[in-house]
Amino acid sequence: MRRAVLRVLILGGTGEARELARAASEERGLDIVSSLAGRVANPRLPVGAVRVGGFGGVEGLRTWLRENAIDAVVDATHPFAAQVSAHAATAAAELDLPVLHLRRPEWVRRGGDLWTRVPDLAAAAAALSPRDHNVLLTIGRQGVGAFVGRTGHRFVIRSIDAPTVPLPPRSTLLLARGPFTFDEELVLMSRHRIDVLVTKNSGGEQTEAKIFAARTAGLPVIMIDRPPLPAGAVTVAEVAAAIDWLRAAAGHRVR
Ligand code: NAP
Repeated sequence: MRRAVLRVLILGGTGEARELARAASEERGLDIVSSLAGRVANPRLPVGAVRVGGFGGVEGLRTWLRENAIDAVVDATHPFAAQVSAHAATAAAELDLPVLHLRRPEWVRRGGDLWTRVPDLAAAAAALSPRDHNVLLTIGRQGVGAFVGRTGHRFVIRSIDAPTVPLPPRSTLLLARGPFTFDEELVLMSRHRIDVLVTKNSGGEQTEAKIFAARTAGLPVIMIDRPPLPAGAVTVAEVAAAIDWLRAAAGHRVR
């Protein structure tokens, strides 16, 4: 007999994933386990069951999904976590499981924004001009390695935990976890005499204040575009829509 409960893996590491775990925990018929990569030393944990650490590629994920009798996967990882999203799509397809990608909307260029859009970290490092004396890097700690050869600039690097990769020679490291306010971002940019902000187009309200502050301060932004989602990905932008998808998947399952 088929189970009346839908067992769901949420691939997390984002605010949306935590929100989804909380909302799903209030739904009947859903049994949720959240997964974190284990990158952050002291992560904000979602409600409910949590597992931590990589699965061991597509094969490891496929085995884990099978052994844990998972019925559906929601990839609620960060928009730049392309590898795990691709693994989820492949492993779920191989097991014929439904998979949903929850992706917050991108930030959109508005009047007054001075954006240079680039496809990846290497292009962002290459896009720095000799006028960019002081560079604010808010790209996550591991991406900093792409800038190590740019010795003509001073970098202010903000990340949650310290990077484990070598830093560019003239660097100031600020360990901080958002959200940050508009005023805090303006003060930071002014205190460090920032000439350019380098950021990923993560989207979302939690870290958007830096975009507003750069616009207000007339600062250029090097904006790294998101990597593409897996081909044919089913995507929603809101937690509520992900809950609707899970309800439909649960309904389909008991039919
Ligand atoms: P990634 O490049 O897509 O993934 C690299 C490997 O890390 C994956 O192959 C997988 O290892 C493991 N992994 C990633 N997310 C996982 C998860 N939720 N649960 C279990 N294993 C996971 O990912 P990333 O960019 O390093 O990001 C790692 C985590 O940090 C993600 O959960 C993401 O949501 C979060 N995050 C990323 C960013 C960013 O800018 N990239 C920003 C904020 C938060 P195996 O192959 O061994 O399974």
